[in-house]
Order: sequence, then structure tokens, then C-alpha cells
Amino acid sequence: MPEAGNFERLLPERLEMVRSQLRLRGIRDERLLEVMFRVPRDEFVAEEYKEQAYGDYPIPIGEGQTISQPYIVALTVEVLRLTSGSKVLEVGTGSGYQTAILAELSAYVYSLERLSGLKLEAEKALNRMNYKNVTLAVGDGSEGWPEHAPYDAIAVSAAAPEIPPPLAAQLAESGRMVIPVGPPEAQKLKLVCRQNNRLQVHDLEGCRFVPLIGSHAYPMV
Ligand code: SAH
Repeated sequence: MPEAGNFERLLPERLEMVRSQLRLRGIRDERLLEVMFRVPRDEFVAEEYKEQAYGDYPIPIGEGQTISQPYIVALTVEVLRLTSGSKVLEVGTGSGYQTAILAELSAYVYSLERLSGLKLEAEKALNRMNYKNVTLAVGDGSEGWPEHAPYDAIAVSAAAPEIPPPLAAQLAESGRMVIPVGPPEAQKLKLVCRQNNRLQVHDLEGCRFVPLIGSHAYPMV
């Protein structure tokens, strides 16, 4: 686990983020709220964005991508119902911020990012904070990561036209996946649960993510 003492900037901003963006909007999981307070989101954004790191919006992280809004990260992680034994697949590492939150609350996180520059930066940040239960790789996450499947939880951080079949196939029995589904302008965040070998899909909220680009997602334009 990371040394909290080295990463204690912007604590009032973090406290306010947890109160106004998370608690007041209905995030209830106390362990998650504590982790969202403790993990330094400012470590995952460029110098010029650090002061804004706890704002209620996505922030550019380069290559046309963004670090997800804090509330969306919290909602995603809360509904995954992670335990200290969970094996997690994350699709769309981006900054690595959500990877850190997932790593704090599960046994192990495998995370895929299609852009190698972002993967390298995320890896640096996660190493600085000493996360050991994370493996990152460059690849098309719409195909999942079959070597380590099945996963107790899958968190997809980019919008897909539909639920990619390989991801559904790699979800363990009683496993839970959160994925934004819909056209590039606006999507529904969906919770997919595998129960008795059947998939149940629930709508969570409207959202707006960058597109998932891959063989079971949107094509490269
Ligand atoms: N949770 C991340 C979100 C980053 S944005 C964060 O908060 O920082 C979504 C990321 O998904 C982008 O970095 C984008 O490059 C990546 N992505 C898009 N399609 C992908 C695919 N098929 N496989 C893996 N990553 C993908």
C-alpha cells in the first residue's frame, strides 16, 4: 500500500470532493470514500492541471483522452462491490487514477490501454505510489485479457457501441462489469452481472466517455 505521508497535497480540495461530489450524490461505501480521499488524484495529471485535479469534471491527460470525473470513478467502483479477494480487469487505463482506486479495494488489477504513451505515464505514477498489485499492458481491451480470465469485476472506461462479447465471456460467475454503452455523444453507464450463467443488464446513469476503439468496439477513424 502507498505511503500516504508523501502525497498529502490539496487535502481540503479532496475533502470537499468527497463531501459535495460523492457523498451528496449518494456514494455510500465508506471504504471507497476513504480511498477517494487518500489517493492523490493530482499525481495522475500534468503539472498545469494539478490545482484542478479535484474538480467536478474530466481533465485532459494527452492524446485526446481524459481522466474520468471523480463521481463516475466512484459510482463505477461502488457498484462493482469489490472485496479483498477480487480479481479485476480494467479497460482504458488512461491516467491510472481509477487503477489505483481499484487496486486499493481488490486483490489484483489487470489494466489494458491502447496508447503506449499513456500506459507508460500511468505506470510511472502507480510505481511512484508503490502499487504492487497491478499489471498494465498495451492492447485492445475490447478483446479482454483472456490469459487472466475469469474476472470478478470488469471496469470499462471508454464508450462501446455494445457490450463486447469477449468481455462478457471473461466475467466470472457472480461477476460484475460496468461499461458505458452508446454513441460517442452520450451513453448509458450499464451494470452487467453474470448470475447462473446468464447476463443481467441494468442501466445506471447517463454519461459521456471517450470512445472505446478496437475490434469489438468503434473502428479507428
Ligand atoms: N479511467 C481512465 C480513463 C481514461 S479515458 C482515467 O480516469 O484516467 C479512456 C481510455 O481508454 C483512454 O486512455 C483510451 O486511450 C483508452 N482506450 C480506448 N479504447 C481502448 C481499447 N480498445 N483498449 C484499451 N484502452 C482503450
